[in-house]
Amino acid sequence: MTKFIVVAGGVISGVGKGVATASIGRIMKEYGYRVTAIKIDPYINCDAGTMRPTEHGEVWVTDDGGETDQDLGTYERFLGESIPKKNNITTGQVYRAVIEKERRGEFLGHTVQFIPHITDEIKNRILESSRDYDIALVEIGGTVGDFENTAFLFALRNLETLIGKENICYILVTYLPIPSHIDEMKTKPTQLSIKLLRENGIQPDFVLCRGKNALDEVRKKKIAEYSNIKSSHIISMPDVIGKGTANTVYVVPLDLQKEGLGEKILESLHLEHKNGASLADWSHTVDCITHPEGSVRIAMIGKYFNIGEYQLADSYLSVNEALKHACAKYCLKLHLTWMDSKQLEEPGANMTALLSSFDGIVIPGGFGGTGVEGKMKAIQYCREHNIPFLGLCYGLQMAVIEFARNVCGLHDANSSEINDHTTNPVIDILPEQKAIHAKGGTMRLGAYPAHLKPATLVHQLYGAAIVFERHRHRYEVNPAYHAVLQEKGLIFSGMSPDGSLVEFIELSNHKFFVATQAHPEFKSSLLKPAPLFDGFVKACKK
Ligand code: GLN
Repeated sequence: MTKFIVVAGGVISGVGKGVATASIGRIMKEYGYRVTAIKIDPYINCDAGTMRPTEHGEVWVTDDGGETDQDLGTYERFLGESIPKKNNITTGQVYRAVIEKERRGEFLGHTVQFIPHITDEIKNRILESSRDYDIALVEIGGTVGDFENTAFLFALRNLETLIGKENICYILVTYLPIPSHIDEMKTKPTQLSIKLLRENGIQPDFVLCRGKNALDEVRKKKIAEYSNIKSSHIISMPDVIGKGTANTVYVVPLDLQKEGLGEKILESLHLEHKNGASLADWSHTVDCITHPEGSVRIAMIGKYFNIGEYQLADSYLSVNEALKHACAKYCLKLHLTWMDSKQLEEPGANMTALLSSFDGIVIPGGFGGTGVEGKMKAIQYCREHNIPFLGLCYGLQMAVIEFARNVCGLHDANSSEINDHTTNPVIDILPEQKAIHAKGGTMRLGAYPAHLKPATLVHQLYGAAIVFERHRHRYEVNPAYHAVLQEKGLIFSGMSPDGSLVEFIELSNHKFFVATQAHPEFKSSLLKPAPLFDGFVKACKK
């Protein structure tokens, strides 16, 4: 029988429910259980694929080709497990499935209603995703009290009736503000969130109290008394990013274990302690992050950084994280600078002044024409000045265009995504993409194999002849230009099994010049950094 740990949020969104869920998952895995995690998103989109990165953060891509919420990425990075697309349930998917069933006549003769049809669909999806696991975490997006997540809360309560209270536990993650004018941590919003959850028929078993500072005993007792929960189940979860903190989210499983959360959850779910969760490797890696022995300065040059007055780290979240994983492995502090590629396009922009202070440069994925010339200038600078360069998807395409223009002498080389009329479309639409016009889940998505060329750097980094990386693109290196690019020295270090699609490129006689059509950042986890990031950071360190 699968046990369920439901995580809901109170007070405000963005308090780190995803990290809390992933951390609890990690702890449970360390006890020796088979763990998976499910994210519920109450929006009407069928998936996150059609949302702007500045709107909803980076789109996460699963092995099986799902374009999902970022939280699945957080789960994978903490759990080190592949999570399939069915583990991201949205309102859009649920309604679509019910309406399609109705049209097929599956409810013939019945009125199709919110209860039980929508709620049953949710419940069945949760059961389907959790099959074969000892423990399934279910994170409900948004905040308790949101009109939108009522159906999901109802479905979970229904699940409880089906499986019994001993098999499900509820965790409410709340936020305790400290208003500056009184300088005191306030519990009232948390009390009100507990009340709201109860109005939905759910009594939380645990309350995780997020806040700037740790929760003191006085407030623990106050919340416990108000909510009729043992005070040992009111768990402090202070900020881990900011001045005077460990400054890494990866410390959260360790912090929660200091509060004994793992054992308390096991007890509440009537589960035995299989192995004690020592988190030894985890703790060693976190130690490397908090006590680095050196540092690297890396620039990431992209375009989804600025929104209003704020710089958004979320647009390239998994690239940031993959860099952190590799730096943790080498005990290096990561100094990451996000640079808008348009900056490099300004008249008189001086590449040496802008780029020479970095140990390495990453060009991440992207779409459309804005900022591409700036990206290519940066790549040219890396190529000519022997600065480590890692190109991801669009980054590979930009590197190929730059090479075609400046090494092969095809001065007007371009991608047909950027210029439809270019006479040298070295990057062109994938043949199977030509007939597709619908948006939403229609790109070349998910894990595909690549055959690596022996004696290349990429082959050496992966230590394997065939690798699977995840993809999200519509364009590729145009096969008509394979010959000229290779003649001029561009090494195709990995190809699709039929030899038609360039998956990895590199240059010899360079510290590190590697790019891939894939997104290896989607397979990086704290305990197992992605090989290309590993190699890149190692080269930057030198
Ligand atoms: N825009 C490019 C393509 O569709 C690259 C996509 C990406 O970087 N994910 O092929």
